[in-house]
Amino acid sequence: MKPTLVKTRDELRGALDALPGRLGLVMTMGALHEGHLSLVKEAKKHADHVMVTVFVNPTQFAPGEDFDKYPRNLEADLAAVASVGADLVFAPATEEIYPNGNANVTLNPGPSATVLEGKTRPTHFAGVLQVVHKMFNITGADVAVFGQKDAQQLAIVRQMVRDLDMPIEIVGAPIVRAEDGLALSSRNSYLSEAEREQALSLSASLKAGKAAAEAGNSADEIKTATRSVLEDAGVRVDYVELVDPTTFESVESGEGVLAIAAYVGQTRLIDNTILNIGSIIK
Ligand code: AMP
Repeated sequence: MKPTLVKTRDELRGALDALPGRLGLVMTMGALHEGHLSLVKEAKKHADHVMVTVFVNPTQFAPGEDFDKYPRNLEADLAAVASVGADLVFAPATEEIYPNGNANVTLNPGPSATVLEGKTRPTHFAGVLQVVHKMFNITGADVAVFGQKDAQQLAIVRQMVRDLDMPIEIVGAPIVRAEDGLALSSRNSYLSEAEREQALSLSASLKAGKAAAEAGNSADEIKTATRSVLEDAGVRVDYVELVDPTTFESVESGEGVLAIAAYVGQTRLIDNTILNIGSIIK
């Protein structure tokens, strides 16, 4: 069945009244792919009804980033979420979410938002938390599913919910990849054929890092093994870091997120994997 499409808060309120029980929320910026659809499928396991938001949130983009050219295709998005049984799509205009223009009251995402993505994109996570918090309040969702693809975002949203006692459950879902390993991303549509080939070095580098970890190497050695695959492929590395999955502080042992960002041509891509450091004694 086709999901109901609503664009205003008033329409949303009416549509939500028709969806009794536990409400699951999947927040997206549209240009939906199998990664987003996996979140809807996961949400259905935790809720009676699932709603998807499609909103390219301006406050998480810095000037000069790709807000204007970000792919938008609501018709295709509706067909995609219909195929996995979402009940409701909320696709508001910017003014519907920010009726007073820039908000004065915002959230400080804390220290874990100052590293990795937050170092390169210093205003990004404040914008993310602003829209996530608003959507939690506007929808009253009981559970929200976020992808491990944006591991730092997932960790920071979890912290917000915990630190501010927000009455919502957060569920993380694994990264969905193309058969050749490339993590699905709406931004992959920016890549030329040659760049897409080059972009395979991201998942390949994580594999190399994971293999280095499994062979008992140190955190530094794991990062070096990862970085060298990216450099050999000729992509411009933004960062290669090994961090604690919750705090995003650097780790030297135990469970870590190996997180990378690199520019393939003009396109900035991110990827990550979870691994164990120091599980084997050499
Ligand atoms: P976006 O539309 O890129 O803002 O992403 C919306 C949600 O989908 C976020 O929770 C992302 O982490 C998640 N997501 C994006 N790509 C993937 C993927 N390849 N696998 C799993 N989740 C994803």
